[in-house]
Amino acid sequence: MLRRTMRLLATFVMLLSGITVGTLATAGTAHADGCYTWSRSLSQGATGADVTELQIRLGGYPGYGAVLAVDGSFGPATTAALKRFQSAYGLTSDGVAGTGTYNQLYALQDDDCTPVHFSYSELNDCNTTWSGGAVTAATAKSNALRTMWKLEALRHALGDQPITVTSGFRSQTCNAAVGGASDSRHLYGDAADLGAGPHSLCTLAQQARNHGFRGILGPGYPGHNDHTHLDHRAAQYWSAPTCGI
Ligand code: ZN
Repeated sequence: MLRRTMRLLATFVMLLSGITVGTLATAGTAHADGCYTWSRSLSQGATGADVTELQIRLGGYPGYGAVLAVDGSFGPATTAALKRFQSAYGLTSDGVAGTGTYNQLYALQDDDCTPVHFSYSELNDCNTTWSGGAVTAATAKSNALRTMWKLEALRHALGDQPITVTSGFRSQTCNAAVGGASDSRHLYGDAADLGAGPHSLCTLAQQARNHGFRGILGPGYPGHNDHTHLDHRAAQYWSAPTCGI
């Protein structure tokens, strides 16, 4: 309730300042969103927490084999990612985040900041606290959020058909119970195992190369003939021999 009141208040203040300054229309500030509302247009050279929020949501658009840094600094890679996002949704591909971009992002995010087609509960089949992994609960949950935005991009690129996550975050206990590797990225919250249907496991593994996943393990890799595993490990490692990867 307080959150909603603050949001409405913020919107009112923005409207008021918009009347005074007359620049309201450029950034879509009048749109109150339950998760996050941008209050200015962003383009190359910008820095700040609002850039970080944008980068998290553009994480699935880094280009083939690349990973977009989430560092609050809007550089050439962020421009390129933004252009890919804009193209993917039929927006003017100008590399400037303004009203059109923000409205698309608002449409894509839930009030808890997860993309509309994925949820925290879907990315955690282990516990509700996100604790007991290799990182703090807050980090694990944050990592899962970033992975979800990559999955949203993957889902959209494959025609907006459903993608099924069969395993996400695991505590040490949960990981041991399913026989996961002792250094599994599932312990960090950034891993997602995807099941087949409607897309094949190979289609998922192949397409994932475009969406910011450093780790891709699929059919032909030991223990991965029944799912495609994606993660955010430190260095790129892709292996799905059956899929030509
Ligand atoms: Zn996995």
